[in-house]
Order: sequence, then structure tokens, then C-alpha cells
Amino acid sequence: MRWALCDNLPMLPAKFRERVLRDLGEEQGRALCEALKGEPPVSLRLNPACAGDAEELLRELGATKRVPWHEDGWYLSERPQFTFDPAFHAGAYYVQEASSQFVGLLAGDAAGCRILDLCAAPGGKTTLYATLAGPAGLVVANEIDRRRAAVLADNVRKWGTGNIAVTTCDPRALGDFEGWFDIVAADAPCSGEGMFRKDPGACEEWSENNVKQCAIRQDAILREAWRALKPGGRLIYSTCTFNREEDEGTLERMLAWAGDEVAEAPETKTDERWGVECGRVGAFRTYRFYPHKTCGEGFFAAVAQKSPAAESRMRTPKNRRTLFTPADKATTRELSRWVREADEMRFAMVAETLYGWPQEQAEAVRQLSEVLPVIYSGAALGQLFKGRLKPDPALAFYRNLNREALPQAELEREEALEYLRRGEVRAAGLAEGMNLICHEGRALGFAKRIGGRVNNLYPSSLRILKRKP
Ligand code: SAM
Repeated sequence: MRWALCDNLPMLPAKFRERVLRDLGEEQGRALCEALKGEPPVSLRLNPACAGDAEELLRELGATKRVPWHEDGWYLSERPQFTFDPAFHAGAYYVQEASSQFVGLLAGDAAGCRILDLCAAPGGKTTLYATLAGPAGLVVANEIDRRRAAVLADNVRKWGTGNIAVTTCDPRALGDFEGWFDIVAADAPCSGEGMFRKDPGACEEWSENNVKQCAIRQDAILREAWRALKPGGRLIYSTCTFNREEDEGTLERMLAWAGDEVAEAPETKTDERWGVECGRVGAFRTYRFYPHKTCGEGFFAAVAQKSPAAESRMRTPKNRRTLFTPADKATTRELSRWVREADEMRFAMVAETLYGWPQEQAEAVRQLSEVLPVIYSGAALGQLFKGRLKPDPALAFYRNLNREALPQAELEREEALEYLRRGEVRAAGLAEGMNLICHEGRALGFAKRIGGRVNNLYPSSLRILKRKP
């Protein structure tokens, strides 16, 4: 792991330095400031739903050791050029800094849970929760900013778990789904002090006034998070900043209005060697990650539970439209050729595209979609032409794609990168008709061979634009 100092980073804001030296004391404060000028560790989280040899992949990427608090998390010896790794485009891993992977521990056993990720883009924690929730669970990933929500949806498609619905609205609209969720995560927008070394822009944008504005926004977000949480459910609050006002302060302000509805969550076991500072704010357990003490970026996380005795009301807002047209028998038969475990899914058409959802969550996704702007959900399967499915690009990544439904074409690395650039693909390696394009067994997308010609069907919005230096 490299912790070398890097002189070309912007100076830390003077007011920030002053505060850190005052709050942490001279020695710890200086150590933190030095660490913020160093190089951040590089880490990722593997996608267990993705095909391929994970051990081989980790070797190729230069993985050194596991992230101690997340079993799918790994540190790398240096930052590879992820753009030129086909496995990255196949959704085999998410490049996620290590500290934030800690929220997985706070979620506990989340299999089958309905999780709301209120501030979700670009999707690091969403994809982590989706893996934990498993096929019977649902993650509603919300992002207020539409452009960022589109990036979130791209990452969700690639993750391929089929158990995520992406919404783009103000948290208030989700708060109206009162008592709906087993877990609500608010990874709140913050002043980003923990990101100073990773993102020098965060350093330039920092001001005391911005800290105050962020705190106000966090208060509003937590009110909605609390409304959406069911009694007995868990609230996970996190930021990537160090100041009290946005961390413990936000929890204190929440406790002032939520009072004894906030109860302790079951204990999360940590290990002293991780260097995480554990604390408490009322019933909240808190966890601070300082880059001079832990191998990760600056991060703050807290967890509590909504008392099971809290006033219990589950409310679904009145629907505004009907969007889902259930698939008829013939359509279901055709779709069942393309997906495994089709009996456990529900299929319907939304705006010309056919989708599939796990049975357990299909009704919830329908209810959400009839009220909120849901820009992606479940697994997009494709469109029907003369009774045959033209697969959606997202189907290539779906963990339950039935690979026996069509021929697979395995491309060498350079050919795979050319495919991802939407370049030419040689007809020789493909069967006539639709093919699943793979590299090292991992699906990248579709291509159709018609005689000597190949139609590259990789979405142009995702194509690689860079050339290898
Ligand atoms: N959870 C994400 C992840 O792990 O990849 C990172 C989320 S980032 C820290 C916070 C997000 O909150 C940003 O995408 C930002 O656009 C969004 N946001 C900004 N203002 C918001 C608001 N008023 N309510 C909810 N979300 C907001």
C-alpha cells in the first residue's frame, strides 16, 4: 500500500486545518492532515452474481488483501486503467473505496429485505445492498439529480442482480411510502472532507458555510428516511466528512425530534486492528474512519433502529397511472426461454419493453412505478418482434440470463475492447443470428451476425471512447 506524500494536491483549507487541530489535538490533527495529502488506497468490491474466475481476475488486477470488513472487498497494489479491463464493463466488480463498504456490516442479514437507498448515485452502496438483499429482496435506489440518476441506472443494469428499482425524485416523495422499508440508508450529500485527497475539487468547494448548508439538507433527508422506515427497521446514516455538525450533530438534531422512537440496533462486531473509532450518540452507534488510522478514505457511519413500538402505519400513496401490462401466455413462454427460474418471476411490458421482477417484489415495484419516476427496475429483457425477443442490452448482464438461449462468442481481450468501442467484430467467430459476446466467460453484450456482416449491438452511450496510450 502506498501512503507517499503528494505535493501537487491543493492546500487544505486553513479553517479546516484549524478545526481539525483543535478537535483532534495537535498530534492526531497533523497526522490526519498529512494523510489527506497522501495517495488513497485503491479498492474494489467483487460482484458474486457475475460469471468468470474471480481468483484469476483478482490476480490480474493486482489484489493484495481483503478489505477486512467486507468479504467481497479487495485492495489493489495500484490503480489499473479500469476502462481497458473488459471485466469492469461486464460488471464483475465495482470500484469502491474500502471505508464505505462498512455499511454492509451495519445492514446485518439483509437477505429478502426491502431497502431504500435514498441518496444513491453513482451506486456504490446500492450495488452492495443489492447483493446483500439477494433475489427475494428489493433495493429502491433514489437519486435526486437526473443526470446522476442515469449513471446510477447504468451501473444497476451492469450489476445484473435484477432486484433494484431506480427512482429520481426528492426524498419527500419516498417519505410518503410510510413504513415501507426494512432498511433505509441515507448516504447524505456532505462537505466531502474525507474526499480531499481523492477529489481535489472537494477541497476547493469546501467552506464553513457549505458545511452549514449540508447539515440543513441532511436534517431534511433524515426526516424522510425516518418516515419511510418501518417499526423495527434499521436506519443507516453516512457521510464522507469529518466535522461534528454533519455527523454526530445531525444525529443529535434528529434525536431531538424523533425521541424514543430511536432504539439501539443489534451490535455490529468490529476489530480493534481496523482502526475504526466506535462511539455513540443516544441510541445510535457511530463509526469514524480516519485515513491516518484506517486503510480507506474518511467516512462516518451510524446505525439505529426504529423502535418496534413506534407508531405503526404503512401507507402507499394513491396511484397516478397504470404502467404495467402483464405479459400474456405466449410472451411469457418466449421470455421463459431467455431466463432461468422463470417460474419465480413476473413479466410485464412497460413502454414497449418487457421486464422481469422477482415474484416477491414485483407488486412493490408496480406500486412505486405508478407514483414515482422509476427510470429502471428489475431486469429489462427486450422487445418482441413477431413473437421473438430482441434482447435488451441489460439482459446480457442479468444473473439469470439463460445462456443456452443463444450462441456465445468468446472474444480475445483486444477484440473484446474493440467490441466495447462499438467497433468491428469479425463474423468468423460468431454463429448466424444473435450472439452473446463474452470475454473470459463474462457477458459484455449482444451482436447479430447476418451472413458476412456483424451488427455490434453494444449501446453507444456506454462505448469506450478512449484509446490505450
Ligand atoms: N451513495 C452513493 C454511492 O455510494 O455511490 C453516493 C451518494 S453521494 C454521497 C450523495 C448523493 O446525494 C449525490 O448523488 C447527490 O446528488 C445527492 N443529493 C444531493 N442533494 C440531495 C437532496 N437534497 N436530497 C437527496 N439527495 C441529494
